[in-house]
Amino acid sequence: MLNVVIFGAPGSGKGTQSENLIKKYNLAHISTGDVLRSEMKNGTKLGKLAEDYISKGQLVPDDVIIGMLADVLETKKGSNGVIFDGFPRTLAQGEALDQMLSEKGQSVSTVISLEVDEPELIDRLLKRGQQSGRSDDNLETIKSRLDVYNNQTSPLKEYYKTSGKLASIKGVGTVDEIFGRISEVIDNLK
Ligand code: ADP
Repeated sequence: MLNVVIFGAPGSGKGTQSENLIKKYNLAHISTGDVLRSEMKNGTKLGKLAEDYISKGQLVPDDVIIGMLADVLETKKGSNGVIFDGFPRTLAQGEALDQMLSEKGQSVSTVISLEVDEPELIDRLLKRGQQSGRSDDNLETIKSRLDVYNNQTSPLKEYYKTSGKLASIKGVGTVDEIFGRISEVIDNLK
């Protein structure tokens, strides 16, 4: 089982590279952001709760996200492996993921961290906002998402570095160049 965490700031290219990974390695994809947006679109209780946090650029509370992730993970049983996109985003989520996988006799195989500097991230997210119409891709919300990333999410890098799982990848260049760097890491996993 290949369990890949694709990690990085908002706008670092996690979704784009996940699409490539799914095709090349035949993996299931779990994007917590996509799950939440679909819940919002369907007007579910979870969607309504998430909306308040997402529109402010804040994280949805850990207990809600961890429960949701556990449910979605159940539906991916029997796959070749999973790409975790947008999860974990806090240390508590990272520990919960380790726990969930170990209960299945599995573990995180690698954490691909896409490194992109802040001005480039802001530029990409503003451009995406013009096309996607995502309500959180406006300058004010982008700035709080970047703060949240720096304060709550990036400490996970140390967590995965300690366990020898962190692979830092330069996230600038063409999509194909970046995917080449990611594939090299995955192909070299033992
Ligand atoms: P991006 O990486 O561009 O911020 P996502 O689609 O991954 O986009 O996430 C959008 C929003 O959904 C986040 O800003 C956050 O509010 C919420 N969200 C997604 N994943 C998580 C998570 N693992 N924990 C808490 N909130 C989350």
